[in-house]
Amino acid sequence: MVDMSLTPEQQKLQQLAREFTAKHIIPVDREWDEKGEFHEFILAESKNAGLNCLAIPKEYGGPGYDSVTQSLVAEEWGYGCAAFATTLGGNGLSSYPLAIAGTEEQKKLYYGRLVNGGMGGFALTEPGAGSDAGSCATVARLEGEEWVLNGTKCFATTCGYADIMVVFASTDPTKGVKGLSAFIVEKEREGLIVGAVEHKMGIRSSNTVELILKNVRIPKTHLLGKEGEGMKLAMKTLDMARPIVASIGVGIARRALDEAVKYAKEYLDVNGKPIGNHQAVAFKLADMATQVEAARQLVRNALRLKDAGVPYTKEAAMAKTFATDTAMRVSADAVELMGQYGYSQDSIVEKLMRDAKVTQIYEGTNQVQRIVISGILLSS
Ligand SMILES: Cc1cc2nc3c(=O)[nH]c(=O)nc-3n(C[C@H](O)[C@H](O)[C@H](O)COP(=O)(O)OP(=O)(O)OC[C@H]3O[C@@H](n4cnc5c(N)ncnc54)[C@H](O)[C@@H]3O)c2cc1C
Repeated sequence: MVDMSLTPEQQKLQQLAREFTAKHIIPVDREWDEKGEFHEFILAESKNAGLNCLAIPKEYGGPGYDSVTQSLVAEEWGYGCAAFATTLGGNGLSSYPLAIAGTEEQKKLYYGRLVNGGMGGFALTEPGAGSDAGSCATVARLEGEEWVLNGTKCFATTCGYADIMVVFASTDPTKGVKGLSAFIVEKEREGLIVGAVEHKMGIRSSNTVELILKNVRIPKTHLLGKEGEGMKLAMKTLDMARPIVASIGVGIARRALDEAVKYAKEYLDVNGKPIGNHQAVAFKLADMATQVEAARQLVRNALRLKDAGVPYTKEAAMAKTFATDTAMRVSADAVELMGQYGYSQDSIVEKLMRDAKVTQIYEGTNQVQRIVISGILLSS
């Protein structure tokens, strides 16, 4: 169905992403999940199709799409395979700090690597610093013209394959969050070690690793933004990324809904009638569809505010919370509606349910989103 609120260019890109997903992703997403292997080969194809690096401005070799346009593609990736969506979403996430605080030289370096087919990573989380990023134990000290980084990051998406990454470290551990700074680190830097691979419940073909930094030396010019302003930069970056995670959630929920509708039309009850004829089933589908549409509209609202250049932190957090809670609820409803088939690995909905869970956790848990939303409500 054509969405009349989109421009012809947006509709065209949405259709391209939908066709790419149907051709290259849906036929193999189950296999990717079972093997838990990184879907590296398809990344180049998505890049060639013009569906990767969407946020990178034209002057640096990207298409420079606005946020609403980026979200259309993210929804299609979420529909096809949330692990693949996470890889490409993570690539975008890693480039956002450059848009916010990068110098000309830093943008040329970072965007250049991405548009030439490299992947990016964003390493903020540590074993003792998840929601509370201020507890970051990775440190950076200035020695002459170089920063020297030491510490361990964890749950770093794509960092086993990333060419370049944004790494957060404390330049003054006595200052907590006010001591946090962000750095650009290329994969070839000596002392940068990819550690254990995380074995996950869902998004199993996304690469999630530990990242160890042992006396990693980078030029002084690789400090991103100002020293001590890493937390501010991380928060602004996550504002940008949350509606994209929300779009992945909308994609997961939409796929679960489509699978459930198909099943309700085809599967017959003891009287030989499709189970969709039962009002209890039909109403469940109606509720699922309503939630998917509401989630999508919250995403669009947040991103239209962002593209208009007005504050959107609260709306981004609302979109992330509602859309990813919807992904979880609707995928669980689809499993229930499809009974034993839904619970078995013969159906895709059990995978959708496992994949949905992480969207409520990463890029700020949904409890943290509620802290953001209520904080703005109570301070205004
Ligand atoms: C698959 C995957 C990929 C990831 N990719 C990346 C990545 O690329 N880069 C990166 O930096 N990080 C990444 N993460 C880490 C992710 O961002 C963190 O898991 C998330 O921020 C939560 O941190 P935590 O897991 O340490 O949980 P904790 O912060 O320890 O929280 C545990 C529980 O307590 C709740 N909680 C914590 N504080 C509060 C509070 N003040 N009020 C109410 N409830 C609270 C949380 O909501 C949660 O339910 C990834 C995680 C996963 C699972």
